[in-house]
Amino acid sequence: MANIEAVGFDMDYTLAQYNEAFDMLAFEGAKDKLIDMGYPEEAIRTFKFDPLQHTRGLVIDKRRGNILKMDRHKYVRRAYHGTRELSRSERKAQYILDAGATPTFVGNDYVNVDSLFQLVDASLFAQLVDVLDEGGPSYAQAFRDVRHAVDLCHQDGVIKDQVAIEPSKYIVPDDNLVPMLTQYRLAGKKVFLLTNSLFDYTNVVMNFLVGKDVNNRDWVDLFDVVVVGAGKPAFLGDGRRDMLRVDAATNMGTLHNFVGKPVSEVGGPAFLQREGKIFQSGTWKELHEMLEVGSGSEVLYVGDHMYGDMIRSKRSLGWRTTLIVPELEPELVLDAQLDLPLRHVVAEKEKECEEAELAVQELRLSLLAQGLDFLESDEREALERAQEESREALKEARDALHRAYHPHWGPLFRSGNQASRFAKQVVDYSCIYTSRASNLLATSPSRTFRPPSDFMPHDDDERPPM
Ligand SMILES: [Mg+2]
Repeated sequence: MANIEAVGFDMDYTLAQYNEAFDMLAFEGAKDKLIDMGYPEEAIRTFKFDPLQHTRGLVIDKRRGNILKMDRHKYVRRAYHGTRELSRSERKAQYILDAGATPTFVGNDYVNVDSLFQLVDASLFAQLVDVLDEGGPSYAQAFRDVRHAVDLCHQDGVIKDQVAIEPSKYIVPDDNLVPMLTQYRLAGKKVFLLTNSLFDYTNVVMNFLVGKDVNNRDWVDLFDVVVVGAGKPAFLGDGRRDMLRVDAATNMGTLHNFVGKPVSEVGGPAFLQREGKIFQSGTWKELHEMLEVGSGSEVLYVGDHMYGDMIRSKRSLGWRTTLIVPELEPELVLDAQLDLPLRHVVAEKEKECEEAELAVQELRLSLLAQGLDFLESDEREALERAQEESREALKEARDALHRAYHPHWGPLFRSGNQASRFAKQVVDYSCIYTSRASNLLATSPSRTFRPPSDFMPHDDDERPPM
């Protein structure tokens, strides 16, 4: 952290954590819009939102109407068609094709569930697929309609107006946020807010988070620069997008955008002093200039969106990244709870399976040494049956452990014995990950973070790091 000159924060699901009531606004609002689009009202009215039905890190297969969980090698480990789990053979038939033809899961047919916002999309899509199995538009069209319906709710006030009336009903308060943001200023670092939400909504949420009413602007003082309506990931790209100044002087939530020259043309930090420090749109270039940072490696950005916040900023700008993973806390609790009983059953069954395999192998070798035919041995059948039974018992034990984490998708960070695709992305694209932004208060602004050593399978786990 000592080399970091500026620390930036996303707002939605990063500084502000939302609860289920918030998701319900989008879910119920989008149901109304789907009915307006012509989807059958009777069926849509029965749709229920279960926040635990889907998880981040899943991949939506729009064309087939499926939702998938993959391991780090993109091997599909679990799959649902709508709300029905696909059997192993169905899954293999659709995703493990002839050599070379296995899907790569990139392109327009696939959508990654990168943010907690998308759990609503996944839930609506899965239930809509069940309806469309009886006939109707294609699954891909239904997904586009779901996306459009949810998007409209974010734009037309279905969500924003309700949150503005009673923010405490939808946003989780966090007393440590203000001290956490303040510590970086005290340590001499610049602090910025970079959110895709527009000013009126950002103002509501930030005022709630700092414990002020909506007519207040004190929260702006926590930051050196505020960029609203950033339009990430385009903000992080190289396209030309003029940065606009936001006039936040009015208290009624009225927003004036002044289309002016890009900040880079009117003189960086001096411009902030003169004109105010709230902006909309633009690109990282103006932001770097205002923050007076020389290279991307001097910026640490804290966000929750795997693609929009992490992958783009780290890959193309070299920003250091912190991913917010609220799911980490319940998962760690489960890790601890399940450690003894279920995990030990799995370990026991693994051992039995290994022993059964060894017994077959020993018989094979001993018959070979005696010049006898393994296939005609009387003992072979009993040993092979025992081997098959032990494999089945191991499979059941692993399945019970998987379902104890999550009835459909298992642990977030694992997929069978492998890291899940989500876990791989976390490791690849975030320098640090933590369950909530305010946890950063527990670390010194100059602390050095070191990743654990990379282990090869032949490495000794006990060996001290280099
Ligand atoms: Mg966000």
